[in-house]
Amino acid sequence: MNITGGCLCKAVRYVINAEPVVTRVCWCRVCQYIGAGSGTVNTCFPSAAVTVSGELRDYQLTADSGNVAQRRFCGNCGTHLFSASEARPHLLFVRAGTLDDPGLARPAMTIWTSMAPAWACFDERLPKVERQPPPAA
Ligand SMILES: [Zn+2]
Ligand SMILES: [Zn+2]
Repeated sequence: MNITGGCLCKAVRYVINAEPVVTRVCWCRVCQYIGAGSGTVNTCFPSAAVTVSGELRDYQLTADSGNVAQRRFCGNCGTHLFSASEARPHLLFVRAGTLDDPGLARPAMTIWTSMAPAWACFDERLPKVERQPPPAA
């Protein structure tokens, strides 16, 4: 099955030839910037299964976990599509809002809840992890 998605302006499109590994809601401080105040929802895939067309820009910084992470976005419309960690290059985290069918993302846990503001709403059905959980794969 092919999973497809892309940015808001459609300059960047992707095709994924794999099932999602795991989906997590992340409230780390960086995700609050990217999520415009909220956390982000990230669905993890094997990076080798993801084919991207169009031009991505890259913003690299050290995450709260201590890992160097790349955050890839469309330079035209600013949509964040992917994040990747240098520590685990075999995985690519796809921002779930960029999936053509965001319903494919089924969050399994909420992470970095210790960084969330007091007004944050968490899904009480999901386990919460205060900081970085063990690697997804
Ligand atoms: Zn775009
Ligand atoms: Zn995060």
